[in-house]
Amino acid sequence: MTVSLLGPAEIRDLAEHLGITPTKKLGQNFVHDANTVRRIVRTASVQPGETVVEIGPGLGSLTLGILEAGARVIAVEIDKRLAEQLPLTVEQLAPGADLDVVTADALRVTSLPSDPVALVANLPYNVSVPVLLHFLETFPSLERGLVMVQAEVGHRIAADPGSKIYGGPSVKAAWYGRFRVAATVSRQVFWPVPNVDSVLVAFERMPQPGTEEERVATFRLVDAAFGQRRKMLRQALAETFGGSAEASARLEAGGVAPTARGEELRLEDFLAIVRAPSA
Ligand code: SAM
Repeated sequence: MTVSLLGPAEIRDLAEHLGITPTKKLGQNFVHDANTVRRIVRTASVQPGETVVEIGPGLGSLTLGILEAGARVIAVEIDKRLAEQLPLTVEQLAPGADLDVVTADALRVTSLPSDPVALVANLPYNVSVPVLLHFLETFPSLERGLVMVQAEVGHRIAADPGSKIYGGPSVKAAWYGRFRVAATVSRQVFWPVPNVDSVLVAFERMPQPGTEEERVATFRLVDAAFGQRRKMLRQALAETFGGSAEASARLEAGGVAPTARGEELRLEDFLAIVRAPSA
C-alpha cells in the first residue's frame, strides 16, 4: 500500500482547514516529522495484519505510519473535529487502509470494535499514565506496546525501586508487565513545540501477579505509601490499617520493615503486605 505521511505543511494546512488551534488542555502536540513517525512504528515492531489501538490520533501523523506498516488501526480520539477528519485524511493518503475511529474519552472506553494486540500512541500528556493503566486493565488482548510520553513520566514508569523517580506509576505499571525507555524524542518534532522532551516507552505484558481483588488492594496501598513519600511505611499506612501498631504488624507479617519507605519496595513487596494475614 502506498501511504503518504504528514509533514509540517500538511499538518498546518489540516489544522487551518479544521479551524483547530491546538489546546494544552487536551495535550495537543502534533508530530510533523515523518522520520520520527517511522522510528516510532519501527521501534514498536508493528506487524502487517495485526490490530493496533492508537489513543489520541490527532491529525493522523502516527496513524498513517502504523497503516503504512500494514496494520489495522483502531483510533480513539476525544476531539470530535479530529475524529471526523481522520477517515477522510486516511482515505486520501492511505486509500484502502483498515481504520476504525472511536470518538470518545479514552479514559472511559470499555469496549472496542475488535481486540487489539498492540497499543501504539503519542499519548495526551495530561492523562498519559491513567490512560495507559486503564487500557492495560480493560483490554487483556494487549500484548505489547510503545507509547510516547513526557521524558520525566516515561522514566518514572520504567524506574526500578530505590531510584529517586520510582513511584506509584512504576509499581502500578509493573503489575501489567515490563516497561523500558526505548528512545528519546526531541521536542522539535512537535507542533506546537512543547516545553519538555519526550521518550518512547516500550512494554510487554507479563502474567499478572495476583487476582483483581489483590490488584485493587495493592494499588490502594501504593497510593497511600507514595502519597506520603518521605514517611516510613508504618506511618504512611497507619490510616489504611487502623493505626501505626497495626500497620507495623501487617508490614512485618509481609516481610517488610515497618521503617522502610515506599520507594524501597518492589511490586512483590506490596503484594506480600496485601496477602499477609491481618493480626
Ligand atoms: N497522535 C497525534 C500525533 O502524534 O501527532 C496526536 C498526539 S497529541 C499528543 C494527543 C491527542 O490525544 C490529541 O489529538 C488529543 O485531542 C487527544 N486526546 C486528549 N485527551 C484524550 C482523551 N482523554 N481520550 C482520547 N484522546 C484524547
